[in-house]
Amino acid sequence: MPFWDKLEDLLPLNIISYSQEEKYVYRTDSTKFNGDPDIIINVTNQKEVIIAVNFAAKNDIPVIPRGAGSGMSGGAVPIKGGIVLNFEKMNQILKIDKKKRIAYVQPGVVVSDLQDKVKELGLYYPPDPSSNKVATIGGTVAENAGGLHCVRYGVTSRYVKGLKFVDSKGYLYSTGIYNNKYLPGASLLVGSEGTLGVITEIALELLEEPILKDTFLTYHESFMDAVNTVIKIKKTDIDPSVMEIIDSNSLKAVTQFKDINLKTGTDTVLIIQLDSNLLTDLLDRSSKLENLFKKLNILGYKKAESSLEAEDIWSLRRAISSSIKRISPNKLNEDISIPISEFPRIVEIVRNIENKYGLKIVIYGHAGDGNLHINILYDRNNKSETDNTIFAAEDIFKNTVQLGGSITGEHGIGLSKKNFLSLQYSKNEIGFMKKLKKAFDPALIINPDKIFNVQKDN
Ligand SMILES: Cc1cc2nc3c(=O)[nH]c(=O)nc-3n(C[C@H](O)[C@H](O)[C@H](O)COP(=O)(O)OP(=O)(O)OC[C@H]3O[C@@H](n4cnc5c(N)ncnc54)[C@H](O)[C@@H]3O)c2cc1C
Repeated sequence: MPFWDKLEDLLPLNIISYSQEEKYVYRTDSTKFNGDPDIIINVTNQKEVIIAVNFAAKNDIPVIPRGAGSGMSGGAVPIKGGIVLNFEKMNQILKIDKKKRIAYVQPGVVVSDLQDKVKELGLYYPPDPSSNKVATIGGTVAENAGGLHCVRYGVTSRYVKGLKFVDSKGYLYSTGIYNNKYLPGASLLVGSEGTLGVITEIALELLEEPILKDTFLTYHESFMDAVNTVIKIKKTDIDPSVMEIIDSNSLKAVTQFKDINLKTGTDTVLIIQLDSNLLTDLLDRSSKLENLFKKLNILGYKKAESSLEAEDIWSLRRAISSSIKRISPNKLNEDISIPISEFPRIVEIVRNIENKYGLKIVIYGHAGDGNLHINILYDRNNKSETDNTIFAAEDIFKNTVQLGGSITGEHGIGLSKKNFLSLQYSKNEIGFMKKLKKAFDPALIINPDKIFNVQKDN
């Protein structure tokens, strides 16, 4: 490996790794995709990132930024080899400006570490993917992650007030608040899945911590009944911070391993949470919600009377993913996003697809913001089941787009959905995105061949 030793003159030796073990760990993320990195650089500061990218640019080597590798679309997988820039050690919360409610962080900060830290100051960072105990701020910004509380508080992009990034030549740029321009909204880097530049610092807006919470578990005799409840709640000013839906197949999986008291006849449940800092406001919205339940004639509901009871409700939601893994060798977790008015139709379609291909499909997710996790259970060692799973996913994507939805709500396109991108975007639209990629990264070294393939100009 002749030229890698030149890098050893530029960077501290202890952050460079060629070890087979480390390369094995960083060859994949939470998907089935694999790559073969040449080298891992465990960056600890911005200067090292600049040096590494500059070296990659001079030697035409791919650079793959990586947070915790919890990504569900293959974004951090080094499919073309090259340098994995691992941000796990660049994990300092640099400053929390309590007065302006802004946190300045390095990309490797784990989301829940930031949330815990700001909570000590009475502040709140809302975007909370279920992976928040491992996922990094850099990864969540690159994927524009959503989460449980985003129905009320919005997704990651709403909180990014500025960021610093290194382009494909190794030049550093500052955007938004770092430039003294308080630009609302997100930079192009947010949601770009690590394909436009390498993020080295992020300024995040914080909110006041809502300290009062009411948590409900509602029982429904059908998925449609639960969806109808979500639609009715959305038409009021109750404004829940959580509205999660859990279907019968998910409940069957969880109840195999966990005792849960469900009302007889329950097919689907909703977890609904309201939060506030004002007791009168919380009481008012809670009583409106309970009155609505009565009018809707649902099977029943439970209101948590203590934080312990609330935790018990939440444990049901948290148990879904691991329970599914225990009942099925493999699962394809698709995260469509669709207007809530179309939920009844898409669920009917998914059930037909389930029958057509003889597969089991589990549905749960952030119903309040139209984001459904559709998990197709299968066995990778069974060829026809694996093929049918791909066909079923494609059918679901086609129908989702026809109903005005999107093939991904939060996990991104990456590698998993690049073949389906043309279902959602026209040739011109994809062509425009490719031009944007080339404008940022003409040498095509930053996370190449993710989202779509781009050819170099001659
Ligand atoms: C059990 C589980 C639950 C999940 N729940 C949710 C959920 O509720 N909501 C949700 O949105 N997602 C969820 N995810 C998916 C995943 O956690 C998110 O996509 C998360 O944003 C990935 O963060 P990460 O640090 O692991 O990034 P990685 O997987 O390491 O990388 C993701 C992408 O970000 C890029 N990237 C990372 N760091 C940088 C950087 N510094 N600069 C530029 N690009 C960078 C990478 O190149 C890659 O394209 C879940 C995943 C799991 C395994």
